[in-house]
Amino acid sequence: MNTIEHWIDGKSASGTSGRRSPVWNPSTGEQQSWVALADAVQVNKAVSAAARAFQSWSQFSLSRRVKILFAFRELVNARAQSIANVIASEHGKIITDAEAEVQRGLEIVEYACGIPTLLKGEYSDQVSSGVDVFSFREPLGVVAGITPFNFPAMVPMWMFPVAIACGNTFVLKPSERDPSASILLAQLWAEAGLPEGVFNVVHGDKAAVDALIDHPQIQAISFVGSTPIAQYIYTRATTAGKRVQALGGAKNHAVILPDADCAFAAEQIAGAAFGSAGERCMAISAAVAVGDVGHELLESLNAKAAALKVGPSNDPSSQMGPLITNEARERVTRLIGSGTEQGAKVTVDGRKLRLEGHERGFFLGATVIDGVTADMDVYREEIFGPVLSLVRVHSLREAIDLINSNPYGNGTAVFTSSGETAREFQRGVKVGMIGINVPVPVPMAYYSFGGWKASLFGDKHIHGPEGVSFYTRAKVVTARWPAAQIRSGASYHFPTAT
Ligand code: NAD
Repeated sequence: MNTIEHWIDGKSASGTSGRRSPVWNPSTGEQQSWVALADAVQVNKAVSAAARAFQSWSQFSLSRRVKILFAFRELVNARAQSIANVIASEHGKIITDAEAEVQRGLEIVEYACGIPTLLKGEYSDQVSSGVDVFSFREPLGVVAGITPFNFPAMVPMWMFPVAIACGNTFVLKPSERDPSASILLAQLWAEAGLPEGVFNVVHGDKAAVDALIDHPQIQAISFVGSTPIAQYIYTRATTAGKRVQALGGAKNHAVILPDADCAFAAEQIAGAAFGSAGERCMAISAAVAVGDVGHELLESLNAKAAALKVGPSNDPSSQMGPLITNEARERVTRLIGSGTEQGAKVTVDGRKLRLEGHERGFFLGATVIDGVTADMDVYREEIFGPVLSLVRVHSLREAIDLINSNPYGNGTAVFTSSGETAREFQRGVKVGMIGINVPVPVPMAYYSFGGWKASLFGDKHIHGPEGVSFYTRAKVVTARWPAAQIRSGASYHFPTAT
């Protein structure tokens, strides 16, 4: 069986630790390959290669960097289907969802192609007699990304295009559950002409992560994953003096007001709750019905959940695929059970799903639970599965208080036809990303992505302007030239950057 290897210094690198982990096909429940798990020796090789590469990459002119970024953009665009196929096969999400993931990642590459504009500094003329002040930003050095299983291409692409465009070199530790997309991307970087060592991939688990966050040559860590690991990495890596942005888990609420178009809201919420089998940090996991909208909403959500076509990721008629592992399915199944034990009512029960011909796949049907309250496990835990809880409240104020009492603050949405209500909501919630009649409010590449509270440790959101700021530090120069003389030889061609 094939073993997925690391990518170090511009080429595939065999694992030396002797440790490896299975990679499943969640649609069939069968193992499809192994992935090598790095130890500290391997991580050190990758970091050393990145440190060597930084010496020259950080000196590449903006024009040369941008040419490589554009070439990479063209290659990702041309191979988008192959990347999506690999994602669908290892993750289990349906193929159109995998294609959309690649598209959203590509948009970050396109954003990073604008790096000459993004890195423009400031200039103040004559701040004192004969004195000028200007600022510019420099890359940090070797930076690392540690990423989750649920977006094996997009989340790494939230990080490395911006980091590399800024002049850093990068070591990626993708999820060991779906590692192949990162290797495809590494190959495309090489094809695009990125110098060896600028982008490296080490596969692994805690041992590889610890080696990265303790490594003295790593300047900054971007992490995306669950809250306990985010907090652990943030604490340990900042103590070691590194710059860290660590994005954690989520519990996203959608609030439905009585004045909302209830049919529209139910459709949107069903998509956000069950898309990608609920394995999204922006998944809606709690629908909060205000006043008397609950009954109609529940009926529509039940109908949507019951009609959802669950199937293998490569079947174009599937609307939802399996969960990532059998353990994930068992965990979500247990949480649904806890809901009924603690007094809620399962109105559509995905545990009953049996898919003929795919009995060994990690499938769980869409599930709706009514009468959920804030003290139940099914509400308190991040489920990360196709389960939607319906919570009923009396007023918008009560809905906002519920959201603000929750430890997470990643995303939230409100469904209403009143601008006044929407404004009260957007100003009242302590959440990083807000949708108004939009259920999955993921910001575009040119905004930054990030939550509040236990959904983000660190003060910088990811990609967008905050990403550029995270991967660079500023210098401010105060200059005086008492007898400035600028000499250069005559040049007769139209000036171009070299
Ligand atoms: P995870 O925390 O288990 O793993 C994330 C990364 O950390 C992986 O690379 C993994 O190998 C590594 N890791 C796991 N256990 C570790 C340990 N004990 N020590 C050191 N490293 C460890 O997360 P996951 O299950 O891969 O992904 C799902 C989680 O990610 C959910 O909680 C989801 O909300 C979150 N997520 C958040 C965002 C966001 O933007 N906030 C985006 C996507 C996913």
